[in-house]
Amino acid sequence: MSKNYVVGFARIGEQRELKKVLESFWAKNSSFGDVKKVASELKKRHWNYQKEADIDFISSNDFSLYDNMLDTAVMLGAIPKRFKNLRDEELYFSMARGDKNCVAMEMTKWFNTNYHYIVPELSLDDKYKLNATKIIDEYKEAKKLGIKTKINLIGPITFLGLSKRVDRGDTYELFNKILSIYKELLKEISILDDNITLQIDEPIFVKDNEVKVLSLIKPTYDSLATISKNINIVVTTYFEHSNEATKILVNTPIWALGLDFLYGDENLQSLELIANSNKKLIAGVVDGRNIWKNDILQTNKLLENIAQKVDKQNIIISSSCSLLHTPFTLKYEEKLNAEIKNWLSYAVQKLDEISLISKLFFNGIDSLGAKDKNELNINKKANKSRKTSTLIHDKAVQDRVDKFTKFQRDGKYEDRIKLQKEILGYKDLTTTTIGSFPQTPEVRKARRDFKNGVISCENYEKQMKNYIDDCVAFQEECGIDILVHGEPERNDMVEYFGEQLKGYGFSQNGWVQSYGSRCVKPPFIYGDISRPKPMTVSWITYAQSKTNKIMKGMLTGPVTILNWSFVRDDKPRDEVSKQIAIAINDEIDDLQKAGIKIIQVDEAAFKEGYPLREEKIKIYEDWAVRDFKISVSCANKETQIHTHMCYSEFNDIIRTIEAMDADVISIETARSGNELLKIFKEVGYKQEVGPGVYDIHSPRIPSVREIVQQIELLLEVLPKKQLWINPDCGLKTRKWSEVKLSLKNMIEAVKIVRDSLK
Ligand code: GLN
Ligand code: ZN
Repeated sequence: MSKNYVVGFARIGEQRELKKVLESFWAKNSSFGDVKKVASELKKRHWNYQKEADIDFISSNDFSLYDNMLDTAVMLGAIPKRFKNLRDEELYFSMARGDKNCVAMEMTKWFNTNYHYIVPELSLDDKYKLNATKIIDEYKEAKKLGIKTKINLIGPITFLGLSKRVDRGDTYELFNKILSIYKELLKEISILDDNITLQIDEPIFVKDNEVKVLSLIKPTYDSLATISKNINIVVTTYFEHSNEATKILVNTPIWALGLDFLYGDENLQSLELIANSNKKLIAGVVDGRNIWKNDILQTNKLLENIAQKVDKQNIIISSSCSLLHTPFTLKYEEKLNAEIKNWLSYAVQKLDEISLISKLFFNGIDSLGAKDKNELNINKKANKSRKTSTLIHDKAVQDRVDKFTKFQRDGKYEDRIKLQKEILGYKDLTTTTIGSFPQTPEVRKARRDFKNGVISCENYEKQMKNYIDDCVAFQEECGIDILVHGEPERNDMVEYFGEQLKGYGFSQNGWVQSYGSRCVKPPFIYGDISRPKPMTVSWITYAQSKTNKIMKGMLTGPVTILNWSFVRDDKPRDEVSKQIAIAINDEIDDLQKAGIKIIQVDEAAFKEGYPLREEKIKIYEDWAVRDFKISVSCANKETQIHTHMCYSEFNDIIRTIEAMDADVISIETARSGNELLKIFKEVGYKQEVGPGVYDIHSPRIPSVREIVQQIELLLEVLPKKQLWINPDCGLKTRKWSEVKLSLKNMIEAVKIVRDSLK
């Protein structure tokens, strides 16, 4: 008897079928009937994949037309008032995307993944009402196909913890109301069938929860688990350990706990408690958020270790989290190097791994049939080859890392900035932009054509240079002080660099859902990283040759490159990050030698790499700051280093940002007002700051007056000599018509303020 389990499956479709039909429906080219048809086909296919792999616990209600948190809000009847007049799919998609009368609900990151959920809006006078249709229909849909599913549900404590109150106050004040709807739901579920498994996801338990939140666990699960003998409840957590919650959950009548042993190996400390409680343990041992083949023998050892404490009979083998966070299937990867492809495993392949691991663990190696034995051998060989392959292991890189000693720049900030001001000769309230200018259809086409060999290298370069010419001319005409080249040659701020670094791989079809119909295809780091040749120097020096003003060089920082890629799992993240930092350092060295005087190193994803647990933050900050500093350590005193971050909440990390020791930082503040900037004043932040003076995320053109007011507000918090004036992020998603007007207004506003300060 082997038992295995999958926390949840991806839903967008292996050819992004759901994305395509949704977007066609939104463009009014397809009917909602078409959407439902595709959805049913996908569900069926995904269930079948799991059935074919002999998975025992296959989920329903892991599917969604947009997002599971949104589904949960709809299930509870938590509909914000502005959507009151809408029904059915119109209501659902308006909540997700907004419509002409109502702004969309907010969206934010799901823990430390790149998946974004819709943030439910709650208020004290809400009247909730159960709507179990989706859950029940999906269960029946699977049953008709001969599959008895476990039902997936986001738990009440996580739901409340991730929601927001529109009437101010704590979402947990609504606990009783929400819990009573869950109870009703469980009653409905209990009469669906015999012996139902209900997976309740409570990932919020992996955070540092206040006692107040922890105190809700027992009443919640005492009551939910006693509603019906017909329901077996599994409480599932992932992405970290949840030891505090486990202590409580073992004393409730739930049936099982689902724990992540890969990203939360501290869960091992709870094994004895679980063993004593005699509950089932859903052991997450196959990585649900990475793309590497499992090392099956290694996993078997981990499981044997778990079985030292927990009775084998009570263990069930599982993915570490929902397979939503990994690409679908290797089937369509036709261009990957065969050796590299042999190291990978996407969702569909992971199902077979889970299945094989469970057979091996429960029944022993001798019980494996010929096919399974063969699979195990292939797995062993692949893992062995990763340990020695020269594609991965580059002695020269390792030696260089070992010998690298230049951990920080020469000179103190105070001395550097004085020198820079003299040499660069910039005034107070210097104007600049964050890097990219609009990515026009022509630019995208040129890049695509070049990649596909449709146009020659000369033709491609000519088109890019034309773009740079226009971009430089516009900035000069507009009167911007520090120019940029506009980034026309970059598809994406990580992919562009990844493509030129050794040790980086790219998939054809490794799409992962980011939000709604949006998917991203992160590149992956498989081996030691180095930079064979300059990556940006020719573009930046070309741009510089077109102007007498200062051209700012533009790079992506090591922490962001790391955080937006799938990272090899055979080396600690901080070591990989250090290798990238040294590669970026090489680039800065070359830019500087080529006469570039200001270089921006973007760290857009610095903050999202933060660990979920307080206790691990220091370790992250230490290496993240170290590697940013390594990347810029070759910059001379007179070379000015900028960095850019795409968010505005700095309160917790202001000292860390300061420790990165950049000369200038640009940040996003336009959407949140300058309230959040006060922290810079409070801590006596000394480096120069460019808080975005207008929001680039919207097509709206900010008026001169509005920008003047914004700058005046900034001046209340920061002195003029410390302030830079810029938009709050890159302009690549905007149209030229919008950018031109907005930047002109920005320059006009700066003139007005400068005059008033004279
Ligand atoms: N330099 C990049 C750009 O302007 C920065 C983008 C970002 O921070 N997300 O596009
Ligand atoms: Zn940004």
